[in-house]
Amino acid sequence: MNHSSIDLQEFHWMMGLLQTLDVGLLVLDENYHICLWNSFMENHSGKQARSVQGKSLFEVFSEIQEGWFRQKTRSVFLLKTQVYTNWEQRPFIFRFSNYRPITGRSDFMYQNVSMIPLTSVNGEVKHMGVMVYDVTDVAVSRKALMTANQELERLSRTDQLTQLYNRGYWEECLVREFKRWQRNQSLQSTLVMFDIDHFKRVNDTYGHQAGDEVIRVTASALRQQLRETDIGGRYGGEEFTAILVGADAEGAMIFAERLRADIEKKTVLHEGVEIRYTISLGVAPVTLGLEDTKAWIERADKSLYRSKEGGRNLVTLYAPG
Ligand code: GH3
Ligand code: MG
Ligand code: MG
Repeated sequence: MNHSSIDLQEFHWMMGLLQTLDVGLLVLDENYHICLWNSFMENHSGKQARSVQGKSLFEVFSEIQEGWFRQKTRSVFLLKTQVYTNWEQRPFIFRFSNYRPITGRSDFMYQNVSMIPLTSVNGEVKHMGVMVYDVTDVAVSRKALMTANQELERLSRTDQLTQLYNRGYWEECLVREFKRWQRNQSLQSTLVMFDIDHFKRVNDTYGHQAGDEVIRVTASALRQQLRETDIGGRYGGEEFTAILVGADAEGAMIFAERLRADIEKKTVLHEGVEIRYTISLGVAPVTLGLEDTKAWIERADKSLYRSKEGGRNLVTLYAPG
């Protein structure tokens, strides 16, 4: 075999390999007209190579935004550099259906796409090679993992009975809020803690299930009173907390009094029995003298204790001494 027949032979092999490659392959000229189109592209687009040959890419794929694609690939021709798109920034360039049985959860094929300059023998770049990688499997499993992680994170900070924040996460929020206050005192926040009155009696009289229902109803009453920026939590068995972000003592007292009155007039219906109950509350605004969140909680707790001492079903604002 002479040199040129070897070249030709190799060329045939190469073309055969490129055709069967499980990667989309196309060549575009400077005007974005299609020069080459492998069988991956044929199979997924449903368009035969001979029907797209010589046509504008944007005519064949109307979903590709021409302005964006030209901008993105400018440096391929101008600077002779490779550019790349990732499924995380842009799920696909070519809208192909996803047929893979394992990844039936996605309707379309996620793609990573490389666009490379094709240098001719005289060193000019008049063509661009586009390689389309099907990354649906990776994308779908990564997304599933992300969803699972988010759900796990949500669960780890949520109290199961009430769906309020649990103590651990709520305390983290309090620390964050306290640090924010230390940096900038223009926005005061107030802590409200409350405890169900004579809750042991509820359990003893109506049973633990009824007690649980009372806790759930209390949590939803709290949730209804909270603003979007407030942070409500279940602090313990039948103890609840709320960080009222941006509320001063006066505002927080109105909040607490409204919640107290709301609970007082509520009836919890459990297995045909009507349960009435009350709560006692303590209110403590953040102040400059406060050492840390532990001291802040102690103030609210002390005030709550005063409400209990005073006869329950009361709101007490923290007062030093
Ligand atoms: P006080 O007015 O002084 O608060 O009296 P109390 O009876 O509410 O007293 P205390 O706060 O000490 O009682 C808490 C009770 O709450 C004791 C515990 O058995 C009950 N408890 C704690 N967690 C739960 C829960 O998740 N479900 C139910 N049903 N009961 C709980
Ligand atoms: Mg109690
Ligand atoms: Mg208690």
